[in-house]
Formats: sequence, C-alpha cells, structure tokens
Amino acid sequence: MKFETRAIHVGQEPDEQTGAVMPPIYATSTFAQIRPGETRGYDYTRSGNPNFTRLGQTLASLEGGGHATVFGNGMAAITAVLSTLSSGDLVLAEENVYGCTFRIFAQVFEKFGLRVRYVDFADPGQYGTIAEERPALVWLESPTNPMLKILDIAAISAEAEKVGVPVLVDNTFASPCFQRPLELGATLSLSSTTKYVNGHSDCLGGVVVTNDPAWQDKMIFAQKAVGLNPSPFDTWLVQRGVKTLSLRMNQHHANALAIAERFEACAAVKWVRHPFLASHPHVEVAKKQMSGGSGIVTLELDADLEATTAFVSGLEIFALAESLGGIESLIDHPASMTHASIPRPEREKVGIYDGLVRLSVGIEHVEDLIADLDQALRGAGLSGIA
Ligand SMILES: *Cc1c(COP(=O)(O)O)cnc(C)c1O
Repeated sequence: MKFETRAIHVGQEPDEQTGAVMPPIYATSTFAQIRPGETRGYDYTRSGNPNFTRLGQTLASLEGGGHATVFGNGMAAITAVLSTLSSGDLVLAEENVYGCTFRIFAQVFEKFGLRVRYVDFADPGQYGTIAEERPALVWLESPTNPMLKILDIAAISAEAEKVGVPVLVDNTFASPCFQRPLELGATLSLSSTTKYVNGHSDCLGGVVVTNDPAWQDKMIFAQKAVGLNPSPFDTWLVQRGVKTLSLRMNQHHANALAIAERFEACAAVKWVRHPFLASHPHVEVAKKQMSGGSGIVTLELDADLEATTAFVSGLEIFALAESLGGIESLIDHPASMTHASIPRPEREKVGIYDGLVRLSVGIEHVEDLIADLDQALRGAGLSGIA
C-alpha cells in the first residue's frame, strides 16, 4: 500500500468487538488479568495501552520501520533515548539542534556525566570526527531548527556504520511524508508528533521508530521505567491527525515555497531559507533525501530588534506563538522565544540574530498569508512583499 493509504488504514482497522470504524479511546489506567500475571496483552497504561499500539503501528509503517514507541511529547522521546546512555558516554551532536534538545543535554544529562560535543554536520569535512571520537550516539536533526540546514543523512549514516555507531535523526521538521531516515541508513527516527504528524496543534506527542529490536526493547523499557507514556486520548488525536498528513504536507510545502520566493525579492530581507528554494546552499541534498521542503520558512530581516518586534506583533493571520507544523500559520522570534534558552554567543554562532524570524506556514489560502505578511512589514516601516 502507498503512504496515503497506510496513513489511513494501518493500525486503524475497525474495532474487533463492535465494528466501530474509528478506534475507541481506552481511557483506563489498568487492565483486568485472567489469572495472576496472565494478561490480555496489557496490564497498566504506563507500560502499554491499545491506543499506543495502534498509533505505533501506523507511525512505524509511515517511517518505513519495524517498531515504534510513542511518548508523551517530543522531549519525552528524547529523554527515552538519552536514558539508555551511561555516565561518560559521548554524544556527537549537530551544532544547530533544537533549543530544548540543547537544554536537556546541557542542564539535565550532562549533570549525570553524559558528554556532548557539537559538530557542523553540514560540512563533510567533519564526518571524520565520528571515527575519531567513536561516540555512543550521533545526534542529527534535518532540516534543523530554525536555520533549515540540511544534513546528508545517508552519507553520515554510512560513516557511522563503518565504526558501528548508531545514528538518531530528529525528523520532526520533514515528517515521514517527506523524509524517512531509516531508509537512508539511520538507526532511530525520532519525531515530536506534536508538530506535523498530528498537525492540528491540539495535543503533544513523541515517537521513536527503529528497525533494531534491541533499541525497540530499550524504548519500551524507558516508556514504562521512566514514565514517559502519552495519554490514550492524545494518542487517539494524533491517530486522527496523521490520516491527512500527505494532503497537509503538500499544501504546507506549496504555500511556504511561494512565500519564500516573495521574501527573496523583498528589500527588507537579508536572506530567506526554505529547503527547496533554489538559493538554499544545501538544496541538492534536500532534493535527494526529501520529497518536499515542508512548511517552515526562516529569514533574517534587515531590521533591528524594535522593527522585528513590530513586524511579528503586527500580523493578523499568523499567530505569534512557539511550535510549528499545525494547519494554522504561526510566527516565531527565536532569539526571544524558542531559542531564548541558548546563551546569546552560542545562538549567534549558529546565526540566530535579533532580526531572525521563523514562519510555520499553514494551509490557509496563500494570497491571504502574503497580504498579512505585507501589511505587517509595512506597518513596521519595512518594504512589503505584495
Ligand atoms: C518541538 C520539537 C521537539 C520537542 O517536542 P515536544 O513535543 O514539544 O516535546 C523536538 N525536536 C524538534 C525538532 C521540535 O521541533
């Protein structure tokens, strides 16, 4: 079956008992046992629930993987993976990781002796550090947040494979509709399903998908031992949201690319990025490993903090909010919002200056979105895009 069909049918067979076409929500903490220790497959929701099983089947299928474990949110999925490491272990991480990933490394796991070294994985000259350092794990994110750097997942995975190092890819920005890291050689594909996979900004979720049964056992263990499980209702919502993933992603992509092209012609903009924009420095890698560029557009205004703030506050359709990947358009000012937890020098080292904004372009009509951006730019005293 093709992706669109699997998104609607895998893990979503009608309920066996009643025939309900939509799966019920198993709102229960515990399950009756037949005899002590003999269950019908479930004992306590922290270690499993039919809604988790169903969503796991769907997401494993969409990522092209054998197994998926669902978590309460993306950070819970990240915690699950990091909880498998030991004091002294090294993580070799892409330098432009998501702000909260940086924070959990620096402020939580480094306290317990985990070592993290940051590398610019967009530079093939750095791949050699994998063999030199022999880390316990290589941590990638592509496209990165918010700079939309594209890392060559197949090439990096091949380098890691030579020395037996597992590779994790945070696949949140592309979603399995546009990019499937396991098919490119990664060991683990992690997503915050809060974003595109659910797509409706009405719940949080996370997932780790793998073909390796040993990693799968570790994820199931982390889910119950660390208490990282989602709620049955939230998994049901993600299960509903994911059915339209392909339709949504294609519209996000088309709207974002059209907006990025408008910004590119705008005098108020220093640079604009979208993975499929011809001017993107990594566009060839993007087109090799992704079937669409997603809905995120990042740009740097040629404006100070005051004008940038006036622009993001003057939008009417775009909501000024953290998060991304929902059907509604959002705008983020990374330096003061999502990436405020990264110290300024670290932030500016990866290009996050005060004029930087990140759009999560929704699936509204693109002409309405362009008109909104145009009026807010002009309202902030900058040149428009209409
Ligand atoms: C949002 C996000 C996360 C964290 O997910 P939550 O569901 O918010 O916990 C991790 N990685 C990336 C790239 C994200 O955008």
